[in-house]
Amino acid sequence: MRRWLLLSVALLACLAAVAAADDPDYYDTLELTEREDATERQIKANWRKLSRENHPDLKGEETRDKYKAIQRAYEVLSDRKKRKVFDMKGEEGLKQLEKADAAGGRGNMHMDPIARMFGMGGGNNDGAAKGHDVQMVLLVTLEDIYNRAAHHVKFNKQRLCKKCKGTGADSKEDFSICSKCKGRGTVTQRIQLMPGFVQQMEQPCPKCNGKGKQIKKKCTLCKGKKVSRVDAQLDIDIEQGVPENHKLVFEMEADQNPEQLPGDVIFTISAAAHRTFQRRGKDLETNYRISLAEALLGFSRSFQHLDGRDVTVSESGVVQYNQKRVLSGEGMPIHNVPSEKGDLTITYQVDLPTSITAEQKKKLQEVL
Ligand SMILES: [Zn+2]
Ligand SMILES: [Zn+2]
Repeated sequence: MRRWLLLSVALLACLAAVAAADDPDYYDTLELTEREDATERQIKANWRKLSRENHPDLKGEETRDKYKAIQRAYEVLSDRKKRKVFDMKGEEGLKQLEKADAAGGRGNMHMDPIARMFGMGGGNNDGAAKGHDVQMVLLVTLEDIYNRAAHHVKFNKQRLCKKCKGTGADSKEDFSICSKCKGRGTVTQRIQLMPGFVQQMEQPCPKCNGKGKQIKKKCTLCKGKKVSRVDAQLDIDIEQGVPENHKLVFEMEADQNPEQLPGDVIFTISAAAHRTFQRRGKDLETNYRISLAEALLGFSRSFQHLDGRDVTVSESGVVQYNQKRVLSGEGMPIHNVPSEKGDLTITYQVDLPTSITAEQKKKLQEVL
């Protein structure tokens, strides 16, 4: 409890300090017009280019501040956790995260620094540092897995208000110190154990839920609700040969809550049943129907593979019912080594004629 109290005092001091300064815009610094949609690759490319263009060793002392700002922007945007917190809670939230990390990330095994930064440890939240993960099954075709494919999954999620970053207040100045706890976030309860013995206990303030502050003017965009529901999209790359039930994790993309770090969205990749092929790991299997004449006399025919290519299969001898033919290298591409492929096993099914004439019967008796 003492640790928590110290931290909340530190947070309030931090709030006051930040409110006075102009908040940096890291996306602006790295010239990322895509902002929150910028990819990790874009961030790295712009950082490299701008670092080169503004290096004080090359361009002189006047670029030193700009160079420093570029390095700081990259430090934040290249770190998934810092970036997410910056996106959700702005510079203020980021400072709190970094302060909590520095203050006692190692000291308390049961409480992640991020939990404290999101205001955990007091108040009426459910106590989890991270929100629930969302599990989804993504049904794809066997063609997608053979060839590689892009899927765009749309879903509805809760997001922190862009304007107030989930505080519910119209601006940073629209907070007042809680009248009950005087900004401490905690209240002291006295318990008399026996006559003459009084124990004092610190508890989170019930009026402000341990935050130490109250909202004076509600955010005009979310009307103080702090969150809204929005349509979100995740872009999924189905890699060649991705194993069945492979999980793809999109960190911190689930519902956003003011008091929690968002959970992950986890997709399980599953292939729908295919009309021609069955997958067995890196191998494929298929049944192939041939006529009695083809079974006896041989044949050369082609079928269409999963990439649309025609593959020729031929037999010259007699083919038995359920006889197998293995085409090596015609199976699934191997995940992460798609130039290598497994095998395709063909099982022949012979279609017998439903009836024969007396004349055909006679001829067959002569030759068989
Ligand atoms: Zn209070
Ligand atoms: Zn708002």
